[in-house]
Amino acid sequence: MVDLTKRRIFARQIVDDSSVRLPWLANASTFTDQCTRCGKCVDSCETRIITKGDGGFPTVDFTLDECTFCYQCAEVCPEPLFTAKTEQPWNARATISDSCLAQKNVECRSCGDMCDTMAIRFKLQIGKVAQPNIELDECNGCGACVAVCPTSSINVSNL
Ligand code: SF4
Ligand code: SF4
Ligand code: SF4
Repeated sequence: MVDLTKRRIFARQIVDDSSVRLPWLANASTFTDQCTRCGKCVDSCETRIITKGDGGFPTVDFTLDECTFCYQCAEVCPEPLFTAKTEQPWNARATISDSCLAQKNVECRSCGDMCDTMAIRFKLQIGKVAQPNIELDECNGCGACVAVCPTSSINVSNL
């Protein structure tokens, strides 16, 4: 007989809490206990960024596009997994790794051009091209900067 308690613990263990799964999730750590993998959120996403990840559970993929915070994924879900639209969607923020072209002194501002909230600011530095810096208070974790980065240097994860 399958021990459901053990199975749930295992399901939780494979969830990385810092990874961004879906906006407005009430409880990311118990998500896999309640999500039935029906795929309604996948079909509803206007930018098609929700894919079936580990175990067939839905997760966003910013290499495909950004989240527009349309709330459709939460709206169509038949399970009580999501919070109200008036709540903050997530604690996701972008970070830039040292593979960034600007850090290697190659001019690039692609991520900044995509950022609607203007969270990515480029600062001039002596002897270097302008360097990107993310103002975490202004980043909403939309992921728009991820797909445009030519060196895949941006990651969006929960704080
Ligand atoms: S809020 Fe909209 S754009 Fe963002 S993941 Fe949900 S359906 Fe997709
Ligand atoms: S995740 Fe969105 S808000 Fe944050 S830096 Fe990237 S484009 Fe700007
Ligand atoms: S788009 Fe990528 S390589 Fe270009 S400045 Fe931004 S993080 Fe650096």
